[in-house]
Amino acid sequence: MRAWHLLGGLSDTLSDGGFYLATAVVHYTAAATSDRGRRRTSNEDAFGFSVEHGVYVVCDGMGGAAAGEIASAVAVSEAMRLLTHRAGSKSPAADAEQAVSAANEAIFSRAQRNKKLSGMGTTLVSLVVEDRRAWMLNVGDSRGYRLRNGRLEQITIDHSLVEEQIRAGQMSRMEALRSPLRNVITRALGTQSRITADVFELDAEPGDLFLLCSDGLTRELSDPVIESMLRLDLPLEDLCGRLVAAANEAGGHDNITSLVVRAGA
Ligand code: CA
Repeated sequence: MRAWHLLGGLSDTLSDGGFYLATAVVHYTAAATSDRGRRRTSNEDAFGFSVEHGVYVVCDGMGGAAAGEIASAVAVSEAMRLLTHRAGSKSPAADAEQAVSAANEAIFSRAQRNKKLSGMGTTLVSLVVEDRRAWMLNVGDSRGYRLRNGRLEQITIDHSLVEEQIRAGQMSRMEALRSPLRNVITRALGTQSRITADVFELDAEPGDLFLLCSDGLTRELSDPVIESMLRLDLPLEDLCGRLVAAANEAGGHDNITSLVVRAGA
């Protein structure tokens, strides 16, 4: 099933009188931090980004032994490789979808070849930006958010059993937080030969902050807490560090990754 969501209109560059307004190019800066957390012996999260190419990726791997680390590393490197070698394509969203499919195939075929890696998989959340246009893609329960005018909005929708039950009216958000099934995701890269990412098309304005993160962050910190931290006008490296530190202070039950992208004039 193909899912395509349009969030908000693109910046209107045509005035009523028919004159094109000069719109400044949006310049992006970014930082990311990944941490093992306090309970896990390894870090199966991975991230990659290229400000130059407007590509940002966070993955959260799963699987026995080192398989989870391999799955997330393969997904990040394959997605980054394809998305930083786009030859002036007209459709960044389609390119991103293709990159996610290629990453899926790379992990799946590797798991097929090596029994020890059988069943490995990874989530993926990705942001692709081109001036004032932005696309978020996700598979699994790693999330993408946008902070605009001090208000945090979750852009992606978790592919998880509890999210499905919430949407079907069978569970409240509070119940989901305590559910023993809260770890069960309904889509992952690498576990099937084909996968479809959800794609969210949105606009970017100077001042916007985008956050990509693994569930090790969002399990420990509520959206209002994340919002209040993103509103602090901190250098992005400090912001990422503070988010990870706060998740560790709240328990650090899982690997924690935060990647923050700022749109500036
Ligand atoms: Ca995780």
